[in-house]
Amino acid sequence: MPRFTFSGVLTRVLFGSRTVESIGSEVERLDRRRAFVVCSTPQQREGELLRDILGNSCIDVYSGAVLHTPTRVTKDALHALSGAAADCIVSIGGGSAIGLGKALALRAEMPQICVPTTYAGSEMTPILGQTEDGEKITLTAPAILPKVVVYDVELTKSLPTRLSAASGLNAIAHAAEALYAQNGNPIISLFAQEGIAALVRSLPRIMLDPTDDQSRSDALYGAWLCGVCLGSVGMALHHKLCHVVGGSFDLSHAETHAILLPHALAYNLEATPSALEALRTATGSNDPVRKVYDLSRALDLPASLGELGFGEESIERATKLAMKNSYWNPRPFDHSSIREILRAACDGRPPNSIQVGNYRI
Ligand code: NAD
Repeated sequence: MPRFTFSGVLTRVLFGSRTVESIGSEVERLDRRRAFVVCSTPQQREGELLRDILGNSCIDVYSGAVLHTPTRVTKDALHALSGAAADCIVSIGGGSAIGLGKALALRAEMPQICVPTTYAGSEMTPILGQTEDGEKITLTAPAILPKVVVYDVELTKSLPTRLSAASGLNAIAHAAEALYAQNGNPIISLFAQEGIAALVRSLPRIMLDPTDDQSRSDALYGAWLCGVCLGSVGMALHHKLCHVVGGSFDLSHAETHAILLPHALAYNLEATPSALEALRTATGSNDPVRKVYDLSRALDLPASLGELGFGEESIERATKLAMKNSYWNPRPFDHSSIREILRAACDGRPPNSIQVGNYRI
């Protein structure tokens, strides 16, 4: 076995049904008394639920969180926070609410408790992506990592099937790239395989019955493990492309991941035989690239970036943005390989089977 470093999982986690009812004791456990609740406008109901549970410990509910954490929204929320004399942040919702919670927690130096209701995984990472002037910038710092995460299966049952599917693929992407991460390790690979397997088996069942306890529980468990992968090891080309395409062209974050993933995997898995083997085990398929593509089709997700409004004319600009800063990838790439991956994702045609593998460096 090669040498490796594993830094542990530093966030306290509550997992199960109706765990949100323990949010008050989690605030107290951090020795805090005045929670500032953050959510998005469509999830105001969940924000109010927290207000009810927290009672006097809830100082205010800010419901303006939006996708990609624009700094103008953060400034507005920071203004509300500074007037509230709060001493901790409690975010409820998907990555948008948690992202705003992170932006506030970092600036105001407060701990954050998260109640995630999608499978995006942001709650398990010390990473904050923010957008300003049409560009997405990422910050990583230990202070960004939430202190406590409360996974409540009940709260995920209202997540619409299409969002569940896209968010689940977003989670699978974290784990898939962890399998070939530069600083990967066998412990995180265990998390990755277990997380992918849980999502691959539960997502199709959620499409049939979005309120099924077992499937929702499996999916949230899988998403947690995949989130740990994202927060623990470095990501590569797939995440970079999603970051550029999603953030700079304002596309749906989770659907962008779902569309690009098979194409990025088709490119990278040729260079990473151990990750290919692990993905075969996790997906139960000899051709995990095709399996991921077919899973997306079975979940009724869009096949092409074109369907999200990313047209041919955007490929060149996206390619340039993706080439702007250097970053590690298991397989070398250049302008033309990125353009080819983006073009395939833009068209939505099936990626090359990993067994055929006709991408060329
Ligand atoms: P999101 O938070 O915008 O949620 C998508 C939609 O689903 C929203 O309209 C939301 O209100 C709704 N929703 C969420 N949970 C629901 C539920 N249970 N029932 C009904 N509706 C529900 O999207 P997301 O995909 O969760 O997160 C994407 C954002 O998170 C992006 O900004 C992305 O950059 C960020 N992100 C960051 C990290 C990180 O580590 N920094 C990781 C993953 C995602």
